[in-house]
Amino acid sequence: MNLDDVYGILSNNGYKLTKQRKILLDILIKYPNLFLSAEDIQKKAEYKNFHLDLSTIYRTINIFDNVNLICKTQKDGSNLYKIRTTKKHHHHLICKKCGKAVSFDFCPSDIFNHIADKNGFVLVEDKIELYGYCNKCSNTL
Ligand SMILES: [Zn+2]
Ligand SMILES: [Zn+2]
Ligand SMILES: [Zn+2]
Repeated sequence: MNLDDVYGILSNNGYKLTKQRKILLDILIKYPNLFLSAEDIQKKAEYKNFHLDLSTIYRTINIFDNVNLICKTQKDGSNLYKIRTTKKHHHHLICKKCGKAVSFDFCPSDIFNHIADKNGFVLVEDKIELYGYCNKCSNTL
């Protein structure tokens, strides 16, 4: 997703592109393959001489999430975010050290449906994440 796509999605959903939203989007789009915490985002905004309160960051991320622009994961109990790079159903391979993420759209949904079916469930959602160390980090372990 590029900046124009993202702006289009926001305005189609009735959200104005305020300065704060733009700063946050710029940061997320600059790191499309990295999961960032609200604190990481705040630090990156400081580098641009822009102060964002954590509450503003959470609120804004929430808006982006409502219009399906965000992928979320958790690390040590805190939430990490990145911009969605594909509209398709997908999963992530995530580096435990630096947060690098690779999105892939392989999903063993047939197997999951089978498991759900066998247990009398109708499957509506699946969340799988694969964790490891990226090329760069595995060299410095
Ligand atoms: Zn994703
Ligand atoms: Zn890494
Ligand atoms: Zn899946």
